Amino acid sequence: MVRSKVASAARAALATSRGYATASSPVSAASRSHKVVVIGGGTAGLAISHQLLRSGRFVQDDIAIVDPALWHNYQPGWTLVGGGLKTREELRQPLHGLIDPKLKFYNESVGTFTPEENYITLGNSNKLNYDHLIVAPGVALDFGSVKGLSEALAAPEESAVSTIYSYDTCANVFPSIEKLKKGNAIFTQPAGVIKCAGAPQKIMWLALDYWKKAGLYDPTNPAGSAIKIAFATGTPTMFGVPKYSAKLEELRKERGVEGLFTHDLVAIEGKKATFARPNGAANVTRDFDLLHVVPKMGPHAFVKNSALANEAGYVDVDDGTTRHKKFGNVWSAGDASSLPTSKTAAAVTAEAPVLVQNLLRTIDGKEPDAIYDGYTSCPLLTEYGKVLLAEFKYGGVPKETFGKWFGIDQAIPRKEFYHLKKTFFPWVYYQAMVKGNWGGPKGWL
Ligand SMILES: Cc1cc2nc3c(=O)[nH]c(=O)nc-3n(C[C@H](O)[C@H](O)[C@H](O)COP(=O)(O)OP(=O)(O)OC[C@H]3O[C@@H](n4cnc5c(N)ncnc54)[C@H](O)[C@@H]3O)c2cc1C
Repeated sequence: MVRSKVASAARAALATSRGYATASSPVSAASRSHKVVVIGGGTAGLAISHQLLRSGRFVQDDIAIVDPALWHNYQPGWTLVGGGLKTREELRQPLHGLIDPKLKFYNESVGTFTPEENYITLGNSNKLNYDHLIVAPGVALDFGSVKGLSEALAAPEESAVSTIYSYDTCANVFPSIEKLKKGNAIFTQPAGVIKCAGAPQKIMWLALDYWKKAGLYDPTNPAGSAIKIAFATGTPTMFGVPKYSAKLEELRKERGVEGLFTHDLVAIEGKKATFARPNGAANVTRDFDLLHVVPKMGPHAFVKNSALANEAGYVDVDDGTTRHKKFGNVWSAGDASSLPTSKTAAAVTAEAPVLVQNLLRTIDGKEPDAIYDGYTSCPLLTEYGKVLLAEFKYGGVPKETFGKWFGIDQAIPRKEFYHLKKTFFPWVYYQAMVKGNWGGPKGWL
């Protein structure tokens, strides 16, 4: 206890000398201290914690991870589950088994932040003091954003409604694709920020290919096909990056998919889906026989309602350094951060080394010098066997790894990229990324 008080006081003095929050936090029997506390053992939390550990600068329990989850999911694989290519069980692992024993694991949720005093409070009311805090709890899915969605997802056979966006529901998607023999299939994407903005249409392209092979859909004669396909998106285009959007729009037209742009799903009632339109236009209601829904997403309430959040509710960090704009010992990466890029695991491969380098420099009393350029990637399945590999940075500017190496255009769907998506990425994720060894396009760290 005395030792922990001394350590706490020393840390507070150090924090003061670096210009961080100055007040020391109350120390009680239920209060612990760590040099670094990481919120979230997801893609970003695991990669960053292990990269910090691999720096050799930390000993047993210097770094703590806080996460209430029992399982860690490889979420990008849920699209493959929806396409009948993998099982959801093979894509998850017990979270505790992915955390190096040198890291302290609190299998609890975070309740509140007190960044002015360098501590967080857990859901069980215990406090954790820190020198540095890394906030990476991802985003929350808002199933309530669509009236009737939760009820429909709970009864997928009857409702014909499913989504690849959660562990609980992704296994219902492929059976619904297999079951449909005729009628209207609608695939939705909400307006606003979501993780992996390409996934809502990836599952559509796989379903289209499945129905084409089953003789139920003829892209050259969509009107005469048993199944009609529509992509209803709250956004104005197929994708946020003009280069890839143009190619996907070309595919949509070529393949006879109806495009319902700026159509934002708001309600499901029986086999009817209602979409809100912008600028006061009247809602549009469509009949469906299969509805694949992507709910709205946003920051967790405990982040949004904290002193760490920007106006939109994301952790307010510098676009380049990943350091909090107000609290110099707070950092964020991954979906929970304000980094203005497409929210993906691929983005984390580039964010994590920047955050780690800058945090270590800050510990040494130096200014951050690593800069994140917004790199992110979206392997867009366009059919079974082919992927368009979108890779870009801030401003929607393409930053293509294979274009640079081999001079190829990544907007053209290719079978090599399909193998990356289906086999290599899931493998390297658990073999290297969560262990802090994978730097995405930079290869092994
Ligand atoms: C269907 C789908 C397809 C996708 N496809 C791709 C793709 O092809 N390529 C790609 O790169 N990315 C893809 N992604 C996105 C990718 O999975 C995420 O961007 C990535 O996992 C974000 O990492 P993160 O660590 O920020 O959040 P997450 O990995 O979601 O982890 C957040 C962690 O925080 C924990 N947490 C939540 N609340 C609390 C709390 N109160 N206290 C403590 N911990 C908490 C959670 O339990 C979780 O473990 C896809 C995602 C989905 C859903």
